[in-house]
Amino acid sequence: MAEPPHIVAPSLASLGLSHERPLVLVDVDEVLGLFMQGFGDFLAGRGLEMRIDRFALFQNIYRPGATEHLDIAEGKKLFDAFFAGHCHEIEPAPGGIEALNRLAGSAEILILSNAPAEAERLRTQWLRKHGLSHPLILNSGPKGPIAAGLIAQTPQKTAFVDDLLPNLDSVQDHSPPTATFQHVADLRLRPLAPRSDRHPRIDDWAELADAIEAAIRD
Ligand SMILES: [Mg+2]
Repeated sequence: MAEPPHIVAPSLASLGLSHERPLVLVDVDEVLGLFMQGFGDFLAGRGLEMRIDRFALFQNIYRPGATEHLDIAEGKKLFDAFFAGHCHEIEPAPGGIEALNRLAGSAEILILSNAPAEAERLRTQWLRKHGLSHPLILNSGPKGPIAAGLIAQTPQKTAFVDDLLPNLDSVQDHSPPTATFQHVADLRLRPLAPRSDRHPRIDDWAELADAIEAAIRD
């Protein structure tokens, strides 16, 4: 995938983040929040089905009884509508909020989510509703460039958590010293999600928090 040129990351100071503690970048969908479940509920409310029989998104949306998935362009419209009006309705991933609260005792936390810009208000509202006061950055495309721009501002250790290998690979390619971890929150996706030797895969949040703490410890 072509990467967007000239990504300028906001300054950590402008985000309210200190460069005196380690920095942990955390994804939302399928890491802190149960996106597939929430999007599936949204689709069900519109008479559609989310069938989770492969690790995909738009190819998993069907009309009841259909054998061919919904047109991809239609799926994308539904996806945009979900983020514009309903992304604050998803359930938190089990253990995720407790784990972030624990990590926040020793690290700066930044939420780095790939979502349409229209999602910013509701996604922020969702974080605050669940007691997470950390800053949010919405990104599109691979996360390596923006993550590298943020990470370059701190001399401290850094970590990154995502469910998707392209994002994990991108961050590791752009910021090799950053500890990368894969977490897949949805129980149905876990057996389907591709994994990689490049990134430890830890689906239990308490265990993941332990691994992150060990990685960012001096
Ligand atoms: Mg995600």
